Amino acid sequence: MIKVTGLVKRFGGTAVLDGIDLAIEQGEIIVVIGPSGTGKSTLLRCLNFLERPDAGRLTIGDLDVDVTRASRADILTARRRTAFVFQNYALFANKTALENIAEGLIVVNRWPKEKAHARAREILERIGLADKADAYPASLSGGQQQRVGIGRAMAAQAEVILFDEPTSSLDPEWVEEVLNLMKQLARERQTMLVVTHEMSFARDVADRVIFMEGGRIVEQGPPDQLFSSPQDPRTRDFLHKVL
Ligand code: ADP
Ligand code: MG
Repeated sequence: MIKVTGLVKRFGGTAVLDGIDLAIEQGEIIVVIGPSGTGKSTLLRCLNFLERPDAGRLTIGDLDVDVTRASRADILTARRRTAFVFQNYALFANKTALENIAEGLIVVNRWPKEKAHARAREILERIGLADKADAYPASLSGGQQQRVGIGRAMAAQAEVILFDEPTSSLDPEWVEEVLNLMKQLARERQTMLVVTHEMSFARDVADRVIFMEGGRIVEQGPPDQLFSSPQDPRTRDFLHKVL
């Protein structure tokens, strides 16, 4: 349902993504691992057109475009179908939890305020923050802020949620509640592409783990297989360092 082929992104002369081919099935949970500086964030950002790729083809549902020729309308369509969860939450500091979740529905989906707020209240229930509807981000814990960040992505009802190291900025005490919310989404078969260093999450939740290095997919497979019998020496070397 989501497919990229031949995805290339260069910064200066360097190919940070060097021909990525990836197909994601509906309901699939994919975890992307790899050393830092390897292009994981850039891959997610290209899928959402936060970065403009230099080559490749992107298919999401009935959208099927050469990424270098994507029109403004194509880009908006791709953005509506791919929700992003950022490492640093990226919440609006001057908006409440409820308003942060409702904002995209109002601005991007053009929902009337009442309807968007009603939907945001449902989401707050689901993420266990119904009592924080009127709280501003600064008064929430890191874990609560990231749950709002995930709630905002849930509200968008995108085809896929892209998570870029969603627990990396959190104090250790808040990591579990965020991972638990992600596990809840996984059980509901929300399609997810997750960049994370949380290997136990990858092991427990992923249908497929992708190891990237140097802007390429080096190896991929079900977590059991990839973690217990990696085939490529680069994968082995990386796992040896992190496990
Ligand atoms: P990862 O998420 O795997 O750590 P990134 O995708 O963030 O890696 O970055 C891959 C490479 O691209 C790094 O060398 C990084 O310095 C470079 N890079 C990322 N964004 C930019 C940018 N906006 N301008 C220039 N170089 C960038
Ligand atoms: Mg990154």
